[in-house]
Parts: sequence; C-alpha cells; structure tokens
Amino acid sequence: MAGSMKNNKYQTFIGLEVHIHLLTESKVFCGCPNVFGSEPNINVCPVCMGYPGVLPSLNGEAVRKAYQVAMALNCHLNEKAVFERKNYFYPDMPKNYQISQFEFPFGINGYFELELADGSRRKIRIHDVHLEEDAGKMIHEGSRSKLDYNRAGTPLLEIVTEPDLVTGDEAEAFVQQFRQLVRYLGVTDGNMEEGSLRCDANVSINEYGKGLGTTTEVKNLNSSKFVKKALEYEIKRQSKVINSGDKIIQETRLWDEAKSRTSSMRTKESSNDYRYFPEPDLPPYRPGADFLEDIKASLIEFPGVRKNRIIREYGLNEQQSLFVTSEKSMADFFEHTVSLKGGSDGVDKDFAGMVSSWLGGNIRKIVNDSGIPLENSYLTPQVVFSVLEMIEKDEISAGIGKKIIGIIFRDGGVPTDIVRDLGMDQISDKGEIKKIVSGIVDANPKVVDSIRNGADKQIGFLMGQVMKATSGKANPGITQKLIREKIFEEPK
Ligand SMILES: [Zn+2]
Repeated sequence: MAGSMKNNKYQTFIGLEVHIHLLTESKVFCGCPNVFGSEPNINVCPVCMGYPGVLPSLNGEAVRKAYQVAMALNCHLNEKAVFERKNYFYPDMPKNYQISQFEFPFGINGYFELELADGSRRKIRIHDVHLEEDAGKMIHEGSRSKLDYNRAGTPLLEIVTEPDLVTGDEAEAFVQQFRQLVRYLGVTDGNMEEGSLRCDANVSINEYGKGLGTTTEVKNLNSSKFVKKALEYEIKRQSKVINSGDKIIQETRLWDEAKSRTSSMRTKESSNDYRYFPEPDLPPYRPGADFLEDIKASLIEFPGVRKNRIIREYGLNEQQSLFVTSEKSMADFFEHTVSLKGGSDGVDKDFAGMVSSWLGGNIRKIVNDSGIPLENSYLTPQVVFSVLEMIEKDEISAGIGKKIIGIIFRDGGVPTDIVRDLGMDQISDKGEIKKIVSGIVDANPKVVDSIRNGADKQIGFLMGQVMKATSGKANPGITQKLIREKIFEEPK
C-alpha cells in the first residue's frame, strides 16, 4: 500500500491541497476582469464585494476548465454538483463567506500517476476537485495592513489528494508534475511567484500499521522546493515530539523560508466550524452528456505519454525528450520543426536529434539570456528548420547559424536575407581558405607535431583558429580537408 516507505521508525502520510488560478477572462461569479497586477481595487463590483442583494452568475469557462482537470485526473464526475457557502470572517473576504463546493464537488475519487525518481509510476489518489472563489489579498506594512480586493472572486480550482505521498521529495515531484499537466491543459499559467499555483500540505506520522496520526497542515507554500523543505522539517519535528512522549497538536503552521522552519499559526478548524450550507443563489450544476463529450475530446496528450512517444518516434534519449516535452509549447515547436524536414520514409531521426540539441543548447541559452519565452519571440519552427538545414548542407557554419537565430529571435527576419545582408555568406573559395590555413598551420608548429603523432582531436583547435580568422565564415568541410592536406601531404 502507498505510504509505507521506511522512514526511521514511523510511517509518514502526506496529502496535498493544490490551488490553481484558472485562466478565464472574468471572475467566477461576476464580470470583473480576472487579471494579475492591476492597480489595487479597480477590478471590483457589488457582486465580488458582497453587497447585500446581489446575485452570483456562474462563469462557463471556469466550469469547462474545472471539468478538464477533473477528467484529466480520472475523477468520477458527480451527476449533480452543488455550490455551498463556507462561512468565516476574515478581512480579505468582504462577503464573510466563500462560495465553494463541499459535499458534491465536480469530481471525486480520481488518481494521478506520479512518476518516481526511479522511473516507476504510482497512483496518487485524488479525493476531489472543486471550484471556488479566491479571497482578496492583505498587504502588511509595519503596523498597518492594506486590502486589495482585485483577487476576490477570481476562479480557484482546488485539488485534494489522499495522504498517499510519503516523502518531501515525492510531494515536490507531485507539485512539479501536476503543474506541468495543468499547464499542458492550458487551464492555468501555474506561475507560483504570482500565486497562480499554491499548495497546502497535510502531514502526519504514526507507528507502522496504525494508520494516520494527528495531522498538521502547512499553509500557502508557493514553491515546490518549499513544499519539500517544509514537509521534511515537519516530519523531523513530529518525530521529536513523539519520541519525547508528547502529543502532536492538530494545527495549521506556516513555513518560514528565512528561518527554514515551520511555526504554529492557529489550531486547525474542522469543517463543522464553517457551517457549510448550499448556496441559495446558484442552482446545482448538472453536466450534460454533450458537454462531457466535448471536454473529453479537448483533452490533449499528457506530458508523460508525449515524452515516451517522442522517444519512440524521434529516437531521442530520455533526457532529451524530458527537456523537449517540459512545456507543451516547446514540444509543439520541436515536432513542428522536425516535420518540415519531411522525407518519404517518415521522421529524419538525425535531424530530430539536431533540433533537440539546438533547442536544449544554443536556443535555450538565447531564451535564458534574454528572459523572453520562446513562444513570445520571433523564432518560428520555419526559421529553425531553414537555419539547421543550411548548416546540414554546409552552406553556413554552426557559429553563423547561432548568430542568425539570435538575431531573428530578437528582431525577426528571414535567414537567407540575413546571411546576404550581413555578408555572412560562407567562404568556399579554396584559394582564399588555403591562404588562411597555411598561416595558421605555420603559426602552430607544436599543435601540428602532435597531430602528426596521432592527436587527431587537435585538428579541432586549428579549425577554431580558422573560424576565428574568418568570423566563422570559412566552409567547415573545405577547411578541414585543407588542414589535413597541409599537415599530412605537404613536405615538412
Ligand atoms: Zn466583480
């Protein structure tokens, strides 16, 4: 059974509550814009501010995205989903209740296949997937607190797992893989710094075979690394408490990254404290058969499946495929680029390998250095295809190719035009290259000697010198040939 890995003398049980902000144009029960980073308190209206007598209306796009996630997590979909009021008072929630789902959420009893470090997979059970509204935001400044209600009423999807995770590492992997899935589905941007994906972690330990212990909850973890660190700290802390003969208190704790520890926030409420009751202003939601068929058809190939297919079809190795499929946009870019090569006998695996190593190497470096995501740049599969094909045909060197891609990434353009305009045309004139080769061979007698004595790799050094002298424009094939001729065929 899950939750039984030996971790000192106690069995560990970890469950996660992951909240994702759904990407919709408007809030979940009113027409206010659902955007991050606006001036405070401008995206508000009487509905999301909880004025008396207002009526909520349900956002269809939020419902659609919620069902996509519930279906992707293999949930049983309730025939009738019910919105309920969760009552509590907090300054960031002007209505004094949150519309959520409790007894009949959209989806229940699902699972997520977690890929473990050793490559094996384990099903992590999903308790439920429910849609709710987010609260506003409190900003604490010294002894004062400010309130920004722009976030109040934005659609939040909560995914609750069963306590099937065992270590901080597994919980971290779950958050990362789950984030990848929901980004693939396009239901959230999953931006953890902006709070689009947040996580509460429940953890308890107990003697083996005795089931769950007393649970503590660590709230508002906004990085997968913090999930791991907070859980590892909590498991150690709970072990110490039990070893010393004390009892664990059921409570909510906060992770303090600066001090690398959790601290008590409040004793935990039970669901009774919230006095849930059905929202009188929203009818139960009954998904129709056509709607569900439509959702099913919209579910794309999931990341793990795509990774394995790309290994199979394109001949990439595990690492390459893992990188290429890290984001859906990257995987689409890769497959599109390779498809342009075409060929009568299917995929050109050599070319696929070349595309993969450019995406993971030179292009990744350009993306990282500029801070501009690939999909927001001018680089298209067509451009990468053209440049790599020119390199393959020896019309330009790899160095020139890198320059062209860098220019188009920022400013746009057509590869052949750039080659012409910037005078990057390759030097293929044998006589011209021969003169440069001669000079470099003569200037490096020691290297030449070692090549004659079998250190063939040193030819690469001389190639580099020729490229330097020609700003990367010397035809690599001709250059290599001429270097060899000069060293091995001409008399000393
Ligand atoms: Zn509103």
